Amino acid sequence: MTTGQTRPRRAPANRARISALARRWLGIAAVVGALGAGALRAGPIEDDAPRFRDAAVEVEPALAVDGWQLPFATRDRSQIKTIAVVSEFGAPRQSYRRGHRHTGLDLVPRPKPRGYVDVYAMANGAVCSIHLSDPHPTVVVKHRLADGSLLYTSYKHLGGIDVRNGQQVTPATKIGRLYTADEARRLGGNYDHLHLEVRKDFADYGVASWLTMTRRELDARFVDPLLFLRRHLAAASSRPAAPTSAP
Ligand SMILES: [Zn+2]
Repeated sequence: MTTGQTRPRRAPANRARISALARRWLGIAAVVGALGAGALRAGPIEDDAPRFRDAAVEVEPALAVDGWQLPFATRDRSQIKTIAVVSEFGAPRQSYRRGHRHTGLDLVPRPKPRGYVDVYAMANGAVCSIHLSDPHPTVVVKHRLADGSLLYTSYKHLGGIDVRNGQQVTPATKIGRLYTADEARRLGGNYDHLHLEVRKDFADYGVASWLTMTRRELDARFVDPLLFLRRHLAAASSRPAAPTSAP
């Protein structure tokens, strides 16, 4: 009877051990499954971003933004009418990933000057990435707003670059220049304009510029530069002048 008594005790113990083992394996399988699902959910932007991580630097803007100006030395850098829009934000594009959204605003100064068209930072900030080669060289500037939040401006299709990674900039800083029409023709496209982006973050290291497929993804990462300029240039020009009698 002793064995009869021990057997029933041993059997549940074995079952418990087996089910504990099974639970552990199921647990591991669930974690692996969740990681797999997470990787799928992350999507092509997160997958591609690490390729450009080395082009970026950790830098803090020394000066907060105290006003926004147009990225060209036009007659009046606070007047939106001194630029011409080549292509609008959000338009579908057929290059790279077919059907991606245009994440920036394509613009040129109006009137277009002879010779090189220089590009300037739109506000105080620091250069946090220089990436891509012809015909897409891109400079990204990190800005700290008065409320402490961050915003990024990105300047693409630069035929020449005059800043270095980590450099502090102001609206007087020349970032580079646009391609000339001849240079753009040689590169096989109409790249003689500035592709300007206003970005809410730069966690994608720039790849969202050609991998953003939906309006929802677009609005999650980008601001319409034309609306942004209309709002902020107007705010700057309507701001009362600083008192001249101040000590
Ligand atoms: Zn563009």
